[in-house]
Amino acid sequence: MKTRVQILGLSFSLVLLIVTFFVYHRLSRDLPPSPPNSSRIPVNDSIPRITHAHNHCRSIYNYICSGNPETSDPTGNVRPDIEGEKQAQLLQKKLIADHPDWNSDQIDDSLVNQIYSPVRTNRLISTFLWVRNTLEEIINLQIKLSFAEKNRILATIERVELEIPPPAAVYSDERELFTKNEVYFERTQENKLRLRVGGAYLIIAKSWFNIVFTLAHELAHSIDPCELKNSGYVLASYQKLKVCFLQNGLISTASITQECGPRDQFAEVFADWMAVQVTARALKSYSHTFGKLQMVNSTKNAVKDLCRQENDDEELELDLHPSPELRIEKIFGAHPEIREFLGCGPATLTLNYCSLESR
Ligand SMILES: [Zn+2]
Repeated sequence: MKTRVQILGLSFSLVLLIVTFFVYHRLSRDLPPSPPNSSRIPVNDSIPRITHAHNHCRSIYNYICSGNPETSDPTGNVRPDIEGEKQAQLLQKKLIADHPDWNSDQIDDSLVNQIYSPVRTNRLISTFLWVRNTLEEIINLQIKLSFAEKNRILATIERVELEIPPPAAVYSDERELFTKNEVYFERTQENKLRLRVGGAYLIIAKSWFNIVFTLAHELAHSIDPCELKNSGYVLASYQKLKVCFLQNGLISTASITQECGPRDQFAEVFADWMAVQVTARALKSYSHTFGKLQMVNSTKNAVKDLCRQENDDEELELDLHPSPELRIEKIFGAHPEIREFLGCGPATLTLNYCSLESR
């Protein structure tokens, strides 16, 4: 009898061990991609005290942009653009003062080693790969795109290279980028597709979600309607999308005097719209790990640098991008999942969020 009890106990332990193994294995496979140090992220579930429920949701722009200029999420924060530029310039000045005998190449090499550190560049590369993979998944899910259209779009995305120093010589044609807050996509004269990241941006953007939104916006430019049009490719689905953007007031008819001309904001709205979908997936992958306040702060940080800032160049902004209010309120803040992460219900007064399936 005693032996039978022992055997039963042993069998039970064995079954428990097997079940535990499978549950753990399943969970670990389903875990979202983690930014550096995510294992040490404390889960803080303190919910913000909101006396008038959802009052903050009346203006998503104000909710994200007013108040404290810095918001911390578990992966980091985002500081004002000007701070990154100041810090990068300060590093540069110090190098020049400390090494009067160095030539400009030596100064740049040393500056780049400090700003584009292995920790920062590795994080940037892994985030770029995550964003690219997610963007490709989203494209693959579009039922209205034909097989040939998908292949064309996916092949273009794959061609984009993340071009970052060291060595400093990588940006030899644009050395001022080391101290600039710019991140951009471009097609070179040699027909190379590349994405470049300014040093100042690396200094101020510590939130993983901000890096995701920024890289997704730039990567989406590789397949934006004007970029594809330039290479002789016009997608019918994109035209339907444009109609939806117009209906939702994301672009105005007044701005389209010339398609893909200097005042046509379709390409910019497209890049934001695509980046919002990638960012929604990034946030969703943490929705079971983060507390509510952490989710709110992570969501805010994704677009924190789009808020109107003191040193904004108004003219440049109006020509290339829609206003910060429109980008945050109507493109980012109208996405159903983004609203959910911010603790807001569905947007009642707006039309359906645009998709490639829009009629
Ligand atoms: Zn853009």
